[in-house]
Amino acid sequence: MKARLTIDEYTSGILTGDRIVLGKAISLIESNLSTDEQQAIQLVERIIDKTGNSIRIGITGVPGVGKSTFIETFGKFVTGQGKKIAVLTVDPSSQLTKGSILGDKTRMDELSKNNRAFIRPTASGNVLGGVANKTREAILLCEAAGFDVIVVETVGVGQSEVAVKNMVDFFLLLMLAGAGDELQGIKKGIMEMADSVVISKADGDNMKHATEAQAEYQQALHLVPSSISGWSPKVLTCSSLTNTGIQEIWKMILKFKDHATKSGFFEQNRMQQNIAWFQEHFNHLLKNDFRRFPSIQAEFINLEKKIADQKISVQAAANELLSSYHRAIKNS
Ligand code: GDP
Repeated sequence: MKARLTIDEYTSGILTGDRIVLGKAISLIESNLSTDEQQAIQLVERIIDKTGNSIRIGITGVPGVGKSTFIETFGKFVTGQGKKIAVLTVDPSSQLTKGSILGDKTRMDELSKNNRAFIRPTASGNVLGGVANKTREAILLCEAAGFDVIVVETVGVGQSEVAVKNMVDFFLLLMLAGAGDELQGIKKGIMEMADSVVISKADGDNMKHATEAQAEYQQALHLVPSSISGWSPKVLTCSSLTNTGIQEIWKMILKFKDHATKSGFFEQNRMQQNIAWFQEHFNHLLKNDFRRFPSIQAEFINLEKKIADQKISVQAAANELLSSYHRAIKNS
């Protein structure tokens, strides 16, 4: 199959659930070529009314906590329930270090062979905002292709968790028992974002620690202000190796969906996420537009220098730059 398809080919391939076409369509979305960008916008427009029919689950946790093993086991379980699962990853570290924390090893090998599963490694892009934007569009394509469970996986790096939280319905934090919050790099806010904390590797000798950690985290979560969803976060344990606790996690997610749907939170949250996405994307477009004038770039640097030398106030400099930008647009 050729690398680029026509819009009609992309659309019909996606709507018939063709995973190869879906993969190519995501590549189109990830492309930074302006012709591809235009085509990608058209494609999303075409399929937009077939999107939304899924549960979007964010999964985070430090490297080694067991994310990929969990997603593999969880994926096998939900596909066994007749669901179709798509797994997307947000890993901005891959651009910075040239080696992805998530992508180096062969991950989710078995699940990737399951014809009810679609696994897409790291989205490309050099800024988190860009990666997140493309992942959001990839979610829509997966939904149009009939995937009803969408997992967005990320690592505990920088702001990627916040970005993922803002594109999913349910946010799950995987934690190791007995590793200590410091060691796990858990920033205060992350716990507050979680709809569930799951203690991984609850098997063998680790079982006791896992149960203790469960009680501790449940206690800690009581202190977290309750979320506007009205859902109180649950702490569960699981083992991907012995396949225990997986079904309970799925049941909890269904319960959340039911709860949030009945209260109206589910739709409202998605709507707010979309509005925030729109604002974010528009800001991004404005910034790009601003950057297209070399003279403005030069003036930007010049004004920075003047600010450093205390020759101009910040406010006056910003106003001056805006006026120059307006003039540049007029003359373009
Ligand atoms: P990730 O970096 O968070 O994706 O973690 P991985 O899924 O790659 O798992 C890291 C290591 O933990 C691997 O050696 C796994 O075999 C191991 N592991 C994952 N899940 C479990 C589990 O449920 N029990 C035990 N005992 N080990 C596990």
